[in-house]
Amino acid sequence: MEVKKKLKPKKPLRIFLYTLSTIIIVVTCLFIFYLYERNELTKIGYSVKASNEILLKLKKSYVLDIGENKTLNAAFESKDYKEKNLDNYSKIKYQPHKHLIKNINTLLKKKYNNNEISMILSHGEDEDVTEFAKRKPVAYLEEFFTYDFAKLKNYDRYMSYMNETGEDEENTIIQVNLDLDKEAYKDPVITDDYTEKVLVSKHRKLEDNYKPKDLITIPSEYVKGNTKVKGDRTAFTHLKEMIEAAKKEDMDILVNSAYRSYEDQVEIFDEYKGLYGDEYVAKYVSTPGFSEHQTGLGFDLASSKADIFSTTKEYDWAVHNSYKYGFVHRYPKSAETITGFTNESWHFRYVGKKIATYVYEHKLVYDEYYAMFLDK
Ligand SMILES: [Zn+2]
Repeated sequence: MEVKKKLKPKKPLRIFLYTLSTIIIVVTCLFIFYLYERNELTKIGYSVKASNEILLKLKKSYVLDIGENKTLNAAFESKDYKEKNLDNYSKIKYQPHKHLIKNINTLLKKKYNNNEISMILSHGEDEDVTEFAKRKPVAYLEEFFTYDFAKLKNYDRYMSYMNETGEDEENTIIQVNLDLDKEAYKDPVITDDYTEKVLVSKHRKLEDNYKPKDLITIPSEYVKGNTKVKGDRTAFTHLKEMIEAAKKEDMDILVNSAYRSYEDQVEIFDEYKGLYGDEYVAKYVSTPGFSEHQTGLGFDLASSKADIFSTTKEYDWAVHNSYKYGFVHRYPKSAETITGFTNESWHFRYVGKKIATYVYEHKLVYDEYYAMFLDK
């Protein structure tokens, strides 16, 4: 009896073990099959999360046909994925935005096409696109956003500036990005750029304690009069080359003024204000913090031959040759509305040869170059 009792459960146990091992084998096979399937997607660049979703939504062959596609990957990773927009996702250029798929869905709903959406996405940060997606569809889109440097967040400002000034699209974008549609000296962007690329204007102010790192005293033989003048070491090295080159052509160029500290500017500003009044200083004297002279990169040139630089052949030579040494003619008469400064024939600014050459050859002023290539 005892033996029988012990043997009796054996058969069901065998069946149980048999069933269990079959299940384990099947599950293992399925799992291996699934890993194999998923691997096909991950090895062409889809994330594990996206790949899981692709398999779950039975879109594997669709995705494999398209191949690697970052927007598609983001779509399958996103809770905002919409099956009806699947074809669009793969054709819209990816941007690393948090609400990328949600914004694409909204923009598609507003009847923008894939190219227009790619264009919108590439001209702003995530929050700019989110704001833009909320508004009624705009008619004037391509006209602005074929320019790389157009900013989505400035759209309304472009429209009103263009209406007011009659400027073309490119100039409108450049000038609005430089904040020329705003009041001078009011709410400027504060800059802490200590390189030769720094932009200082009536809308870009230097930090009050901004001091160039490498100032030198300019040797007196290069200075007009008996004043002690300081300037940026690299900039002056190139200016010296330029002055020597001019000398070989029988021209005499000297430095009138270069570096001015914030404190110096305050002193000058107050002095002129006392002498000539508000209107005069607003027009002719830089408000402290808004002067290129604080960078040590701006040089006021002169000639010993005449008091008014613009009447000399040295001036003419400098306008057409200074770019070879890395300098731009900073405030020409032709660009008063852009620089905000009345023609300063004497003021040259070091920006490096590459930029100076581009600015000279394209007949730009530095503000424009900055807006087109350096402004982020
Ligand atoms: Zn100057």
